[in-house]
Amino acid sequence: MTKDKEREVFEMSTEEKRLSTFKKWPYGSDTSINKEKMAAAGFYYIGNKKEPDLVRCFVCLKELDGWEVEDDPWEEHKNHASYCQFIHLNKAECEITFEEMHDLEMYRQINMATKVLTKKIKEFEKQAANTREVLQTLA
Ligand SMILES: [Zn+2]
Repeated sequence: MTKDKEREVFEMSTEEKRLSTFKKWPYGSDTSINKEKMAAAGFYYIGNKKEPDLVRCFVCLKELDGWEVEDDPWEEHKNHASYCQFIHLNKAECEITFEEMHDLEMYRQINMATKVLTKKIKEFEKQAANTREVLQTLA
């Protein structure tokens, strides 16, 4: 991840910043998945042509798409990422203390490192399997 991208994610720790990412959000304010509720549930918008309603949590980095207009963003977040530290905190932004915000940032960094390492481990396992196959053909 580039420095710019990292800063971008760090800035997503405020609801206001997350809300500002929902420029191309395909659902209106009359739905239960309006951008205000999405931002309050910890999500920011990362959608594209292929996945027009893709969002990511600023702490657990879970990505979700395929939203239904009657979905509850907080409940969906909880169902798909029950381990999320933001979900566990279960507080509106105005109630979060500086210390708790600091902890969330620490968890975000741990989650980001875990995500990168998990990807590397999977790549390594794939390579190991390929090498094993080549070695077996030589035996
Ligand atoms: Zn989360």
